[in-house]
Amino acid sequence: MGMFDSVYVECPRCEETAVAQSKGGKCLLRVYTLSNCPDDVLSDVNRHSPYTCRECGCEFRMDGKTRRTIELKKEGCDDCGTRVTKLFKVNGKYFCFDCVGGQL
Ligand SMILES: [Zn+2]
Ligand SMILES: [Zn+2]
Repeated sequence: MGMFDSVYVECPRCEETAVAQSKGGKCLLRVYTLSNCPDDVLSDVNRHSPYTCRECGCEFRMDGKTRRTIELKKEGCDDCGTRVTKLFKVNGKYFCFDCVGGQL
């Protein structure tokens, strides 16, 4: 188990809070937010990205320049092609709610 710092980030869509880990700083188990973390911590805050929001399921990463989270664009359902806001990831592919049942 290594040491790391934690950075609280907000889902760009629903503002649910997630915790990102960073080993970019001194790793003193400090807790920051995206707006107040030091640059060296910020530089590694995407080490586990993309993050998936527990609440709405969208995937996002952190943008170091603006110190905001940005949602990753997704193409749509890999099966029927429908563009929906909530896609389910199965074996590296994305499916809409209607199609995911057949993949599990
Ligand atoms: Zn969300
Ligand atoms: Zn579908």
